[in-house]
Amino acid sequence: MKKLLGKTGLEINPLVYGTLPLGPLQADLTPEAGGELIRYALEQGVTLLDTAELYGTYRHINQGIKGYTGDLLVASKTHATTADAARTHIERALREIDLSCLDIVHLHGARLQDPFVERAEVFFELLKMKQEGMVRHLGLSGHYICAIEKAADHPDIEVVHPLINRTGMGILDGSAEQMSAAIKKCADAGKGVYAMKALAGGNLISEARASFRYVLDLPGVHALAVGLLSKEEIDGNLKLFNQDVAEPEEWEKLESRKRDIRIMEQFCKGCGQCVPACTNNGISIVEGKARVNRDDCILCGYCGAACPEFIIRVV
Ligand code: SF4
Ligand code: SF4
Repeated sequence: MKKLLGKTGLEINPLVYGTLPLGPLQADLTPEAGGELIRYALEQGVTLLDTAELYGTYRHINQGIKGYTGDLLVASKTHATTADAARTHIERALREIDLSCLDIVHLHGARLQDPFVERAEVFFELLKMKQEGMVRHLGLSGHYICAIEKAADHPDIEVVHPLINRTGMGILDGSAEQMSAAIKKCADAGKGVYAMKALAGGNLISEARASFRYVLDLPGVHALAVGLLSKEEIDGNLKLFNQDVAEPEEWEKLESRKRDIRIMEQFCKGCGQCVPACTNNGISIVEGKARVNRDDCILCGYCGAACPEFIIRVV
């Protein structure tokens, strides 16, 4: 069952493969192992693969799509703060995945309240790359309601990738209801909407079925990106998203998994570079070591990307 992604003309399976957990910030699978899962998902009907410069999963996607001739779309994101860095990010994605064009590129603006002002130079460069044929559609990914509202009114944004879940965990300026209203505003304006963090990074995993259903049933949500780490997860989610079928035994197993963030404290230098990388104020330096506040952590792994010692991992 494919869905139209707003006015982009793209048709996608409502289950979008979120590749973040495959990469070095989380499960750190080899490109071959990650690629095998990606290929399996594509063969079962998934159409859109979601990645980002930060995720480190371009080579996993490269392995997964090698020789694949079915429907395939790739979305990436750039967190660049300069035009040059944005171009470097997009060129790297094309080279490492081995594509001539990315279907969607998002301004990766988790912490940006006014992304088109704060990243004006980057957005202008993305528009140029679209004209040059390196990108087909431009999008905005964000954790701020006010940014998603601005995207609804922006003529050059065709897709939004908002954070939303039942509890509102991770939304930086309001409630799940307010984010839902911003999502509807985007869809009403013709933007394609595929959401993220329906399980709040794993915090809602024990109620996964109800949490996915909440997001999928929101007016204006066309699809949802989910991190998938096993064939069982791919099968279970495809059935749930496309046929509204959830085998109790399968899902009880999937919902009993636990995820956590680990910091190898003995190697922590207390440099603090992980602190501003967190969108949720979930990490701070206590007595010279990084410490996570689990009540605020959405297990995204972004702090791990900022750590020069590579000692933070979401497992
Ligand atoms: S502490 Fe790290 S994993 Fe948790 S929300 Fe912050 S950046 Fe994400
Ligand atoms: S960035 Fe890494 S080394 Fe620096 S404080 Fe954070 S965890 Fe420790």
